[in-house]
Amino acid sequence: MAIFVHNSPMTISDALKQRDLAVNWHPCTQMKDHEWLDMIPIKRGEGIYIEDFDGNRYIDAISSWWVNLFGHANPRINQAIKNQLDELEHVIFAGFTHQPIIELSEQLTAITPASLQHVFYADNGSSAVEVALKMSFHYWRNKGQPQKKRFVNLANSYHGETLGALSLGDVELYKDIYQPLLLDVLTAPSPDAYLAEEGESARDFALRQFAAMDTLLQQHADEVCAVIVEPLIQCAGNMRMYHPVYLQKLRQACDKYQIHLIADEIAVGFGRTGKMFACEHADISPDFICLSKGLTGGYLPLSAVLTTENIYQAFYDSYDSLNGFLHSHSYTGNALGCSAALATLDIFKTDNVLENNQHLIRYMQSATEHFKDHPHIADVRQTGMVLAIEMVQDKTSKTPYPWQQRRGLKVYQHGLKHGVLLRPLGNVVYFMPPYVINTDELQKVIDVAWQGVQLATQN
Ligand SMILES: *Cc1c(COP(=O)(O)O)cnc(C)c1O
Repeated sequence: MAIFVHNSPMTISDALKQRDLAVNWHPCTQMKDHEWLDMIPIKRGEGIYIEDFDGNRYIDAISSWWVNLFGHANPRINQAIKNQLDELEHVIFAGFTHQPIIELSEQLTAITPASLQHVFYADNGSSAVEVALKMSFHYWRNKGQPQKKRFVNLANSYHGETLGALSLGDVELYKDIYQPLLLDVLTAPSPDAYLAEEGESARDFALRQFAAMDTLLQQHADEVCAVIVEPLIQCAGNMRMYHPVYLQKLRQACDKYQIHLIADEIAVGFGRTGKMFACEHADISPDFICLSKGLTGGYLPLSAVLTTENIYQAFYDSYDSLNGFLHSHSYTGNALGCSAALATLDIFKTDNVLENNQHLIRYMQSATEHFKDHPHIADVRQTGMVLAIEMVQDKTSKTPYPWQQRRGLKVYQHGLKHGVLLRPLGNVVYFMPPYVINTDELQKVIDVAWQGVQLATQN
């Protein structure tokens, strides 16, 4: 279909692109790239597919930045939101409450590790991290230890973009420029199994790396509030993965040195690692868990921080003690978001999702076996429903391609040409599909990725 803008025929898509670029500033984007890199206006979504205005369909192999769990326009989530919309869209959550949020908190406390019993809401992942940081600091102050005011993170971690959350991250590309504005954190080396010596197991490497964390915690115990980690997968840090024994060791050390453990499961929660929450692989209970992304099935911005009875009680006091947690966001506990989250949890229960995903997990593993033999692939790693392929310049030394070459972008462009949305992180191509994908569709994603890797690693 053609419409006329400035007297020249233009497709609807072209007209939308032009209007978009005149007014929109996109996230994580150098806008000048769009002088040559196409942007794609999307008309509709259905299941694993998104569709543009020219009728092209793309498999959303990255779950629209890791949020979507059960497909676009999922009938059950759609219906839940429509029903809620006719009752109550939103109400102030201080002094008031509503049914969806009570039910959601009851369910979240039931499915997360047992000691997590109180839920504080925010409206995005970064804000959830900020809540956990502030609560941890405030807890120690309420307990008469105001000198505990530093945080410990892992190398290559990512916890969001607001200044506090950014401080706790360690991905250069997002952080370096803002360094003068950030909190002074203590960084321990990552247990990332990709860094293990030749022949060293992921477990042995995690244990070896833990020694440095233990030393750091021991030396700084009197000034540290909390350690924050992304359990098992450092997603934004190029999908690097580590062995769960690290989490067990960390839990023990945090208990020993009286330091909180914050599990940032914003990306890995809700089944991505094969279990509902990544902490379950290590059978540990953190002092705080941060949830967002998949919480609403990828529909609406909502996040939650769950914590323990002990931490909750440290704030429970008379008003004039100033021990209360006086933190708020306007959209805290949005009722539509809660109804989407309830419908999402309902699908997990009624459709045996975690069990059925095991089949997809095995399929992804066997269908990508051959990637390992590629001369420019140094690693094919998988944790549950997340599989990552690391392209390198030199396989033996694991020398990365210079980032300026933007090899991953070539895979992205190839994918779009062939109906698959892949959005590599640097030189790492990964799959994190919605759980409603089938094995034929997975095979298509894998085939297109394979061709994309061939193209991107030529010369
Ligand atoms: C995405 C992400 C965040 C930030 O969430 P936003 O909703 O994008 O602010 C924090 N931590 C982890 C591990 C994430 O993957």
